[in-house]
Amino acid sequence: MAKVAFLGLGVMGYPMAGHLKNKGGHEVTVYNRTAAKAEAWVKQYGGKSALTPKTAAQGQDFVMACVGNDNDLRQVMLGPDGAFGGMAKGAVLVDHTTASAEIARELYTGAKKAGFDFIDAPVSGGQAGAENGVLTVMCGGDAAPFARAEKVIAAYARARNLIGNAGAGQLTKMVNQICIAGLVQGLSEGLHFAKKAGLDVEKVMATISKGAAQSWQMENRYKTMVAGKFDYGFAVEWMRKDLGICLGEARNNGAHLPVTALVDQFYSEVQAMGGTRWDTSSLIAVLERK
Ligand code: NAP
Repeated sequence: MAKVAFLGLGVMGYPMAGHLKNKGGHEVTVYNRTAAKAEAWVKQYGGKSALTPKTAAQGQDFVMACVGNDNDLRQVMLGPDGAFGGMAKGAVLVDHTTASAEIARELYTGAKKAGFDFIDAPVSGGQAGAENGVLTVMCGGDAAPFARAEKVIAAYARARNLIGNAGAGQLTKMVNQICIAGLVQGLSEGLHFAKKAGLDVEKVMATISKGAAQSWQMENRYKTMVAGKFDYGFAVEWMRKDLGICLGEARNNGAHLPVTALVDQFYSEVQAMGGTRWDTSSLIAVLERK
């Protein structure tokens, strides 16, 4: 059992922090900007809440965070009441936000200077993965603190791997999002084509999902995509944030991402259709637009 704080009780953070308490049996303190959510969490799980990231971080062995983007992270970590001001020497700060590799490296260096460790640890598996405690966590940082943090992360993750130095977790998440972007557009075009060709989409999917075209997106999303239902997970606005991070990193490292850039623009069309909060499978809506 360890003393753990969790900062950011959003769609992902709320159930992740819950697993730390229920499955991990840790002594948990939560912080959320909108305090009502922290109060609701304490009511549901027990534990304690703190009014600032700094006070939440004080005296903890581990501090986990999951907020929105680079700017949010900077505020929660380095702001006047930020977690950096409260971290104990030798403690480990684990960040589950999907953010840039640049900020991960900056926070790693700052943490080292201040005498504690930082691991960038973005996740995949979505809301369902967080609720069921079966996330995949991709980590960057040093081996010793990772080995200690891994045991705590295990409360909400099925897989967690140290990929490399600081920033490597964020870079791996970028690979994840690049792979998904092109795939969802391909699946959208396949379904759109099947409908236009007058095929029985159910029969087509039941058949080709047993072959080389199979994917998680195909198995889990084709029915709702055909039905035009896009309320099943990761929102378009978050995906555009992530693709922006990928494209920014590619400008630095010289990678060519033509399809990723195009799909980002298709998502901007989804947003123009009112789909900012639709899930990422909504790319098909652009093709089916009347
Ligand atoms: P969310 O529901 O919007 O929650 C965001 C959390 O961050 C909230 O607790 C919010 O506090 C807090 N926050 C944001 N800006 C802040 C600031 N400036 N200061 C303090 N707190 C701040 O988001 P989510 O879906 O949990 O996603 C969190 C992260 O995980 C994102 O980086 C996302 O890309 C990533 N992710 C999400 C999914 C998914 O399926 N949802 C999957 C994989 C990865 P308030 O309650 O006060 O707004």
